[in-house]
Amino acid sequence: MTSPESASNRPILVSSSTRVAAVIGDPVDHSLSPVMFNAAFTAAGLDWVYAALRVAAGSAAEAVAAMETLNLAGLSVTMPHKQGVAAAVHRLSPTAAALGAVNCVYREGRDLVGENTDGEGFVRALTTQLDFDARNKVCAVLGAGGAARAVVAALAGAGATRILVVGRTSAKAEAAARIAGGIAVAGSQELVADADLIVNATPVGMDGNTTPLDPALVSSRHHVADLIYRPEQTPLLRSASAAGANVMNGLEMLVQQGAIQFELWTGLSAPVDVMRAAAENELATG
Ligand code: NAP
Repeated sequence: MTSPESASNRPILVSSSTRVAAVIGDPVDHSLSPVMFNAAFTAAGLDWVYAALRVAAGSAAEAVAAMETLNLAGLSVTMPHKQGVAAAVHRLSPTAAALGAVNCVYREGRDLVGENTDGEGFVRALTTQLDFDARNKVCAVLGAGGAARAVVAALAGAGATRILVVGRTSAKAEAAARIAGGIAVAGSQELVADADLIVNATPVGMDGNTTPLDPALVSSRHHVADLIYRPEQTPLLRSASAAGANVMNGLEMLVQQGAIQFELWTGLSAPVDVMRAAAENELATG
């Protein structure tokens, strides 16, 4: 078995039979996906390679056509193409159709299928990092954008009894709540005090200074997840830890949503430990 460290350090040999996967987005320069997936392919003994391709806004359909023309084995999709790719693939999974957004394209027969692995990756991360099972729990999600919608849908699918969506734009918060059917409502941040789980799905905290929530509302009864992983500890996670809450940042979600993509592309189980070690190493040194 390849150790996580040796898998991320080994040189990648590319030949005419090498299968190619890639992330498309703009920007993609700081993506952790290439080191994470290349380490995974190496560890699994696959002759596959993964690249980051900058694709300008508005060119999602051309990128999907290129995936077909160039016989790419798999595609990860990041901003600003998640909606554009959803409109361009042959088929959508039920999750991607409900969200109207795709973060992964895989092949099934002759079809290019759009999937969204963010929500399921988040739920897997709750299990592996926080030992938190959303069944019968009350959850609060801060934010109403693409990641928040994926998390809301996945928490509903995982059996949460009630979900509160806290957004600065009420129409967007209400639309995100509708994704979970009758169990979700849009509301104000004071209501998070009653939640078992609080999720920051806004970019607030990426600067290392700002927080999306009044720290006084968080206590030791809470599990707190921040989808941000740069910085490793946002002010929200720091204050939640100090209050005695159980916390996780967004790195495990990134790893787990990638593991699902690996499984969809290759049909193999993902070497999750290798992927996590590669991502952690890149964050520490990159
Ligand atoms: P997005 O679609 O742009 O949505 C951002 C949301 O945050 C929107 O609801 C927006 O409000 C809200 N927001 C932005 N600035 C705010 C502020 N100053 N105060 C209050 N609310 C604010 O972005 P996204 O794709 O959902 O990503 C959200 C975060 O999740 C980012 O930090 C991203 O890096 C992270 N993420 C992590 C992973 C992972 O694997 N760990 C995966 C996906 C995303 P409006 O509704 O008013 O626009």
